[in-house]
Amino acid sequence: PVRVRIAPSPTGEPHVGTAYIALFNWLFARKNNGTFILRIEDTDATRSTPEFEEKVLDALKWCGLTWAEGPDVGGPYGPYRQSDRKDMYQPYAQELLDKGHAFRCFCTPERLEQMREAQRAAGKPPKYDGHCLNLTAEEVTTRMAAGEPSVVRMKIPTEGSCDFTDGVYGDVSIPWDSVDMQVLIKADGMPTYHMANVIDDHLMKITHVARGEEWLASVPKHILLYRYFGWDQPVFMHLSLMRNADKSKLSKRKNPTSISYYSALGYLPEALMNFLGLFFIQIAEGEEMLTMAELIEKFDPDNLSKAGAIFDVQKLDWLNGRWLREKLEPDQFVARVLEWAMENGRLTEGLKLAQSRISRLGELPPLAGFLLAGDVGLSPASFAGLKTSPAETLAILNAVQADLEKLIEWNVEAIDGALRGVADGLGKKLRVVTPPLFVAISGSSRSLPLFDSMALLGRSVVRQRLKIATG
Ligand code: ATP
Ligand code: GLU
Repeated sequence: PVRVRIAPSPTGEPHVGTAYIALFNWLFARKNNGTFILRIEDTDATRSTPEFEEKVLDALKWCGLTWAEGPDVGGPYGPYRQSDRKDMYQPYAQELLDKGHAFRCFCTPERLEQMREAQRAAGKPPKYDGHCLNLTAEEVTTRMAAGEPSVVRMKIPTEGSCDFTDGVYGDVSIPWDSVDMQVLIKADGMPTYHMANVIDDHLMKITHVARGEEWLASVPKHILLYRYFGWDQPVFMHLSLMRNADKSKLSKRKNPTSISYYSALGYLPEALMNFLGLFFIQIAEGEEMLTMAELIEKFDPDNLSKAGAIFDVQKLDWLNGRWLREKLEPDQFVARVLEWAMENGRLTEGLKLAQSRISRLGELPPLAGFLLAGDVGLSPASFAGLKTSPAETLAILNAVQADLEKLIEWNVEAIDGALRGVADGLGKKLRVVTPPLFVAISGSSRSLPLFDSMALLGRSVVRQRLKIATG
């Protein structure tokens, strides 16, 4: 039976790329009467947070991509969160060490940095040089007993190439000498992505691994692990990454990339899935409007769209407009608008913020409308009434933009702290820094409390407004 998965790392705002890969897997499962599961890959403890995990689950649910097994619903191969599986990986690492497929490496970060520095200087790609490859068993025991920190690295063949057939790319051949002796277990005992990913895909009986093409170069490491363990490998399918219209990689610095941005702006999940689903089918012009059921019917992984996965926002707008006009009855439309306005408390919390600032309800739309608006209509004139000069305004907004990117948590306290930091850094009072931000965020110098509004709007909408204001 077909079993596929989406395996997000909860290290940031859920990405439309994750929805795109998840949709492929979901359709693949539906098409083959298979099972779609969700596994959280949080082996990078420094960057993973429970908040981002919750967001990724919520975002995929919003998309309508439900899973049969996952951290929230359980299942027969749990736990489905790698940090909860930490102790399961150790015996596998030991097996590889015992069989001589892996070795302990005691190289310090300093030595590794020097090694990479030398490789960079020689114009070579960074790659472990095998310094600890031939330590004797006695030496390893002694150094471990002495408490010296170590990692486990995998051995890589020195000759030949790794040849495999990718379900999308076809035949691929990657020379072994380009493959690094990957760390499998970190010094703190946590597995790396490669180790945990292969073991979990095996234990969770995954039959097809469909993911972004950025992982194609990692396949030799994964295949080698399957061979070392004597396991059957899954079918690999590497999907082309989504690109901007100018062919550059989709990046949040260029275009909004978070699912929450598109939901906040009022794209329907049906339209977003329709848009992403078109990358997986060949379709004639005029037949672009497809429901999930129609996507399943037309989905053909052997015949992916040849056009490349261009994230064409105009096409998304066009599809979304058609969904709004053609697929919803007037009453359904109204219900969806209200549902959208209530999402994340934007409307309810926004109204509470406005209560003490109005004398007539009719003042609400101009005061609080920016919490729902897609665009607050900024122009240079919007900033004209400020006490700061245009250059100072821009410097303030740039500094705010940079410091907000560093925030891990997004809430009133964190935003407040970041803006106080910006004011200190610029040697200005907070009340000098906030007016330009009021304008950038709300389009007006008189509006609702700034930090609360920014928290309600969410990180990706705020990022986009600052980008427009500084662009
Ligand atoms: P940045 O915006 O800083 O360049 P990023 O867009 O690469 O970061 P990541 O946090 O690295 O975002 O990726 C999050 C998830 O989204 C990963 O699973 C990744 O595979 C997927 N992803 C990122 N960019 C794309 C893309 N262009 N197409 C498809 N999937 C993507
Ligand atoms: N955790 C990886 C990611 O976020 C999963 C890659 C894979 O599917 O193997 O992209």
